[in-house]
Formats: sequence, structure tokens, C-alpha cells
Amino acid sequence: MRKKVIAGNWKMNMDLRQSQKLVSEILNGLGKDSKAEVIVCPPFTSLSEVSSLLKGTQVKLGAQNMYYEESGAYTAEISAEMLKSVGCEYVILGHSERRVIFNESDELINKKIKTALAKGLKAIFCIGELLEQRENGQTMNVVSMQIEKGLEGISSEQMKNVIIAYEPVWAIGTGKTATPEQAQEVHSFIRELVAKKYSTSVAEGLIIQYGGSVKPDNAGELLSQKDIDGALVGGACLKADSFLGIIASA
Ligand code: PEP
Repeated sequence: MRKKVIAGNWKMNMDLRQSQKLVSEILNGLGKDSKAEVIVCPPFTSLSEVSSLLKGTQVKLGAQNMYYEESGAYTAEISAEMLKSVGCEYVILGHSERRVIFNESDELINKKIKTALAKGLKAIFCIGELLEQRENGQTMNVVSMQIEKGLEGISSEQMKNVIIAYEPVWAIGTGKTATPEQAQEVHSFIRELVAKKYSTSVAEGLIIQYGGSVKPDNAGELLSQKDIDGALVGGACLKADSFLGIIASA
């Protein structure tokens, strides 16, 4: 039985003081033995402070991006080692906002995933189709291609440290959620793809999160689907009570 994994992507929100407040409220509201794994992904500027507040708790720390080179003249970029040095265990890679706004390609995302895994970070690898692609019946093709290219050269062993987040782009930050059936259909397709590419045991162990306007009132139904193993949450993770509500549904 796969554990549910709920991650909060704070995006470009929360200065240092707001980050301290949010993480303290989450920790206060979280029961001692939440069954779900909980990850918070603050902006870079808050990682170190949030990391200190998370010490000794069950909540894990993730970053929202990184670069694949180790060090050097890459102004404004952050390396895997830097993330590890402030206590990150996870890093989100291939988020649709990185793909669409910052033109990140599947090839670049693949390099980042390879480096993250080689350096001992766990990758939350985001994939998902645009509205136009869904309307043209291309969802499964898009998702297959993103998996093929994004996971190129990643071994079965390394897949233990990969979470796939299926996030239909039309559902991110729009208030439109995929129906549990729509999401389940794609999640089950992703699991089959991974089974073909790797093995049934890799596919069965793989955590596949859903992301796209997840809220406390829709989380329960989404998370009860057979192949939905958690959620990557944007807007609703910025308030402790709604993030805690989602965690409680898991
Ligand atoms: C996201 O950005 O990963 C996301 C799912 O955002 P939201 O929950 O706001 O749709």
C-alpha cells in the first residue's frame, strides 16, 4: 500500500516572517502521527529558516527548482548541494510554470532530474497537458512524451526517489479541477507507462500526485482514487487551515 504524499508549493509567496508563521501554524495543527507524508516547498529565501523550524518534526523540506551544474558562473541559479546544505530532501522539477513562463524544455528538466538524483535529492517531477492539448485529444501523447524525455537515462533504482506529479495545466491556479475520473484515467495510464518502461514493481511503488486546484473540499474524492497517491498543492497550501484540511483528507 502506497503512502499518501501531500506537498505544498508556495511558489513566489511568503517572505521570511510569513514563512515562519505559516510553517509554525502547519506544525501546530498537524497531529503527531499524520498518516500522510507532508512536504513544504517555500521560496529559496525561506528554506534555511523553515528547515530549522522543521527539525525533529515529520514534515519534509523541498525546493521549487534547481540548476543541474555543480557550481560556477550561473548567476542567480541554485545547485543541488546548496539545497541539501539547507536541509532539502525534495526538489520540484518541470513545474508547468517553469516550462511555460521560463521556457524549460524536457531536455533541461531531464538534466536537472539526473543531477538531483545523483546528489541524493528526491525529485517531484511535474507533467501535464495544456487545455488545447486536452481538447485535441492529445493528453496521453503529451504525458508519454514528457515521461519519455524527462526520465531518459533514469534507472529503476533511481525511480525510488522520483515522485511524478500529474498537473493538467488548465487546472493549475484556475479553480478548475480535473474530475476524479479524469485524473484517475491519466494516473492509471502513467502507471502503465512506467510499468512498460521499467517494471511492474517500479510502477506499483511509484507515488503519483495530482495537482491542479486541490482544496479541502475536493481532496477526499481525488485522493480516494486508486492511482492518486497524493497531491501537489499550490494556492490552498498558503493558508495553514486549508493545507491541513487537505492533509486530513489523505
Ligand atoms: C501547482 O502549481 O502545482 C498547483 C497545483 O497550483 P494550484 O493548487 O493553485 O492549482
